[in-house]
Amino acid sequence: QSTLKDAGENAYPDWKAGDPVPYAALCATFSKIEMTTKRLEISAHCSKFLRQVLRLTPNDLLPTVLLMVNKLAADFAGIELGIGESIIMKAIGETTGRSLQVIKTDQNEIGDLGLVAAKSRSNQPTMFKPKPLTVRGVHEGLLTIATIEGQGTQTKKVAGIKKLLSAADAHLAGKGSKGVDITKDKGGPSEAKFIVRTLEGKLRLGLADRSVLVALAHAMVSHEVDPSGKKVPSTEQLAKGERTLKSVYSELPSYEVIVPAMIEHGMEKLPEHCKLQAGVPLKPMLAKPTKSITEVLDRFEGKNFTCEYKYDGERAQIHFVAHDAEQDFKTAAPSAGKTERGISNIFSRNSEDLSKKYPDILAKLPTWVKEGTKSFVLDCETVGWDVDEKRVLPFQTLMTRKRKDVKVEDVKIKVCVFAFDLLFLNGEPLVNKSFRERRELLHESFQPVEGEFAFATYGDANDLDAIQVLLDESVKASCEGLMVKMLDGPESSYEPSKRSQNWLKVKKDYLSGVGDSLDLVVLGAYFGKGKRTSVYGAFTLACYNAATETYETICNIGTGFSDEMLASLHAQLSPHIIERPKPFYAHSQGNKDQPDVWFEPRFVWEVKTADLTLSPRYMAAMDTLGLGKGISLRFPRFIQQREDKKPDEATGARQVAEMYRKQESVSKNKGPSADDDF
Ligand code: ATP
Repeated sequence: QSTLKDAGENAYPDWKAGDPVPYAALCATFSKIEMTTKRLEISAHCSKFLRQVLRLTPNDLLPTVLLMVNKLAADFAGIELGIGESIIMKAIGETTGRSLQVIKTDQNEIGDLGLVAAKSRSNQPTMFKPKPLTVRGVHEGLLTIATIEGQGTQTKKVAGIKKLLSAADAHLAGKGSKGVDITKDKGGPSEAKFIVRTLEGKLRLGLADRSVLVALAHAMVSHEVDPSGKKVPSTEQLAKGERTLKSVYSELPSYEVIVPAMIEHGMEKLPEHCKLQAGVPLKPMLAKPTKSITEVLDRFEGKNFTCEYKYDGERAQIHFVAHDAEQDFKTAAPSAGKTERGISNIFSRNSEDLSKKYPDILAKLPTWVKEGTKSFVLDCETVGWDVDEKRVLPFQTLMTRKRKDVKVEDVKIKVCVFAFDLLFLNGEPLVNKSFRERRELLHESFQPVEGEFAFATYGDANDLDAIQVLLDESVKASCEGLMVKMLDGPESSYEPSKRSQNWLKVKKDYLSGVGDSLDLVVLGAYFGKGKRTSVYGAFTLACYNAATETYETICNIGTGFSDEMLASLHAQLSPHIIERPKPFYAHSQGNKDQPDVWFEPRFVWEVKTADLTLSPRYMAAMDTLGLGKGISLRFPRFIQQREDKKPDEATGARQVAEMYRKQESVSKNKGPSADDDF
């Protein structure tokens, strides 16, 4: 708290009340954050800056927060940066008059395009002083770059980036090489550096959504207590604000709605104004893995619980509002579909818009929504459906469907929606009701249609034998096992974005070995031997450490692939080769441990393992565990690609550490869950 005391000062002298927030001021904060690894300091820098924005230019709070979380808009809008290295290098070259060759050489030496940009910019003699960048201007510029489509995209993107870069570091213009010393202070507050990192899609400051939310809550509470910063809020006041904002954001993950509402109504009244809405996808509730049915019984002893079939498809959230209740559909995602009944949308587990993938589901929706059901948010699984055999198809078959621009008449693999939860009904959020009530409302509001819409099958088994029977039946029905859920009381409420103890998954093949498979990111590959020399024969995989925003290597894998698969993986991965590992790859430096090629972090694979072991060759969870060694997988085996997961949704380092601890029974983890988002 003491670090917050001086929040009233103005760290950037030219910035007066009412002025647009200077981008240089944000970069100065980023730079301070970059110089520390202490979470409390990071949070204090962040909240101090946000307080200043609240005091001087509250209208710019939204673009400031968005740039801090490295997003241009809410996830469901589908606007992403992640611009390729070659486009950025071209723009740096054209802005600074340096040749592409020189920039590539720099990049090989320095390995951080942000620093290459800072160096190039500071060496450049400038004739005139450009107009300084503002936070709002940078946000708008980036948004333009990200949404360029159609012919000549690449040239237009380069032009957009040049526009930003040539206005960057205006305060250093004309100072020649004395400007930014990239060997000092990690390049300092250079605007060019942070623009480039934002374009790459990684700020690498360890500023996850969660840290920014906490900082925002603290800034707002402090501002409300005393805008001048002389009087500081109590720890309880800060903690209360934090809880309020986290809970609001988990129901309505949209800064675009929350930030203006927070400024208008204040923190106390925020929950009244920002509730779950149809049209804004929330992060789904997740389940904890269990190794045995007895573990389930231990957890739920004396409680009412229910066992549902665990369908093996794709998580989906369906949002709908009938025409006569359209005012309930607050933020229509780009492809929100209009049908004769209303507006509907379907989102993935990571809030991507799936409406173009499943137009067949949206077209059939009116047949299974009952007349009186005016608006809803449904949590469900889309599963491939065999029309002749009238049974579900394996996940792999579903994944062969096209992901975009699907035409209803071309659909070959039919899908059935298996609904298991109802989160919003007729204008009202249901997340705080018990699961028993939500399920009753679900069954009252919809009607099953064979092969198109069904309720998840369930049984209220509550002893070991009965659960075993249900588990066997679920497997016979081509399901993966059971989801066991708390049924009554506050513990059975829907917990958005949480991996909760109140939902347990029991998979048929858990019952030996590690309790769950891992989803890992492909970072590198080794060329094959013998008849496999023209393809990759083994791959380096990593888990994701959200706290440090790094990918930590966990194993090499060469088992579970057919020859055809290796050929197609070679074709898929080769376009993503990079010349050297990214600075945010944590990997062993030993010569013999280096893969032959490195890739951009793009692909997520599901992998099974016999068990986890400590290893000096791998970095997974090394910091988290603090044992001086990483965790690695023994006998890893490829299961399938996870196209529905992004690299930063791979299994987290904390999850790996938790799996290891559980396996070693080193300690029973009762603390916060390993990969809760908030
Ligand atoms: P996780 O979602 O837990 O990160 P994962 O994506 O590998 O892991 P699983 O471990 O297979 O998925 O299990 C959880 C998923 O099971 C849910 O996200 C959901 O998509 C699916 N699922 C299938 N049936 C149900 C059900 N009845 N209730 C809840 N989820 C279900």
